[in-house]
Amino acid sequence: MFPVNGKVHTDPELGDVLLRKSPRARRLSIRVHPLKGVVVTVPYWVPYARGIAFLESQREWVRTMRQKVSARDASLPEGEDIESLRARAKAVLPDRLRMLADRYGFRYNRVAIKHNTSNWGSCSSKGNINLNLNLMRVPVPLQDYILLHELTHLHHPDHGPGFHEELEQLLADHFSRHLEEDDFRAYLQPIGESRAQHRITSVLERALKTYRPV
Ligand SMILES: [Zn+2]
Repeated sequence: MFPVNGKVHTDPELGDVLLRKSPRARRLSIRVHPLKGVVVTVPYWVPYARGIAFLESQREWVRTMRQKVSARDASLPEGEDIESLRARAKAVLPDRLRMLADRYGFRYNRVAIKHNTSNWGSCSSKGNINLNLNLMRVPVPLQDYILLHELTHLHHPDHGPGFHEELEQLLADHFSRHLEEDDFRAYLQPIGESRAQHRITSVLERALKTYRPV
């Protein structure tokens, strides 16, 4: 998972911190990433020790950011392991994907359930869709968001304006069909009247960031 041009520093409080050497960075910086954890970017010509000293000077800020980022418990539900998540995911997600694809006229090739911590799903150029078994740990509206996101990639391989436009339309339609369900309605509330400023995709994207694959 860690690139070659970096070094892992194990901090007693923060755990594994990646010190990443970047040829483009001009100064030291820190990011608290929902999946990768704490990452310190170190310019190529700066020694790693300076990166560690910088981390020390920013410890208070990193602590606050970590609390925000890991708002949701990333551990598995009580009594559940990866294999039981996989079994549940196989029983639920392919049918849900089929339903959404039929509803919106998408044709994909194959669907597979995968286990990883780097993405929630993916769609290949051959039209094969992978879905992360961790989707069983997020609410149904967010599951549907990922499924629709991957289906939209069948039309738009990148994340360009066309992709976002189509996905936003699909979500608007899908959510309006499920408005009777409390968990769907809850996500539309922050949007309210000001639809233009708060697109459904951005609300859902923000909500999804509070979950982490394990
Ligand atoms: Zn994507």
